[in-house]
Amino acid sequence: MTDLAISLGDNSNEKEIVCSFCGSKVLKAHACYFLNKSFPLPHMKVKSEDSYNSQVEYLSEYWLVNDMMTFENVGFSHNVGTIKYLACADCEIGPIGYHDTQVPNEFYVAVSRVKYV
Ligand SMILES: [Zn+2]
Repeated sequence: MTDLAISLGDNSNEKEIVCSFCGSKVLKAHACYFLNKSFPLPHMKVKSEDSYNSQVEYLSEYWLVNDMMTFENVGFSHNVGTIKYLACADCEIGPIGYHDTQVPNEFYVAVSRVKYV
């Protein structure tokens, strides 16, 4: 897990988090916290191409962001039930994470779907 650069002090992200496709900045260093949590995300695609399909991948490592204003850049999909998926604000590739509208202060970014610089 050292390649993910998790800060040993507080489990926050040691490095800046950027879009793995276009490099757009998503989160500053130390802006979110690592946690193990299983949640299914649809496969990655460009948000504007139809809607996300129903094929999902169960991911178990996420960064937790407690405030939407913490994001440098992020886009949201339309609601799917109570879930909004997060996508890159620039190239619209996603989902890179999700937000449950029933839980206002929790935004999750999938560890494996973003890049660290
Ligand atoms: Zn991007």
